[in-house]
Amino acid sequence: MNLLIMGPPGAGKGTQAGGIAEHYKVPAISTGQLFRDNIALGTALGRTIEGLIAAGNLVPDEVTNAMVFDRLAKPDVRKHRGFLLDGYPRTLEQAAALDAELQRLRMRLDGVIALTADPASLVSRMLKRAEIEGRADDNEETIRTRIEVYGAETAPLLTLYGERGLLIDVDADGTVDEVAQRIRSALSERLDRR
Ligand code: AMP
Repeated sequence: MNLLIMGPPGAGKGTQAGGIAEHYKVPAISTGQLFRDNIALGTALGRTIEGLIAAGNLVPDEVTNAMVFDRLAKPDVRKHRGFLLDGYPRTLEQAAALDAELQRLRMRLDGVIALTADPASLVSRMLKRAEIEGRADDNEETIRTRIEVYGAETAPLLTLYGERGLLIDVDADGTVDEVAQRIRSALSERLDRR
């Protein structure tokens, strides 16, 4: 199963991605987490992108694409015959690059989970998360930038995947378990129809 999970910052993509990946036995690949790992390790990539992430801006497409394609080439993707990409693609350019890479790998997307959330709830959800996880980019100013960037750069992808019939909208307001249950039933309904 080759899946994407999308949604505005604070919708709970990372949390839900873990559960879905476990259920379908595919690796969850989070670009945000890969970037944070690079920053924590002090790699050359980490040093280049640190400022962008702290400000809530996107990492350039070429850098992000290269990192994702490298990750998709790892043996676990082949072994489990699938992946769940969390937080990628985030721009139309990234989506086009992913299409080309998947074609090269003779793979195709099976579905795009789109978490939807009440915009008013996003900032408070993220501030709450900041207390728990202590992420450097979870302060109010950066959160607002990230929500704006999502609307301008990433939301257009919903139309793209909607036109391809891949979009699976899931209401992300509710407890982690409630949302996980919604995702599972939406996915199994979709797979049964194939
Ligand atoms: P996330 O953990 O998905 O919220 O991502 C945290 C931050 O990492 C984002 O605010 C961006 O700065 C950066 N980032 C994550 N994924 C991407 C991507 N696909 N393209 C560009 N920047 C990204």
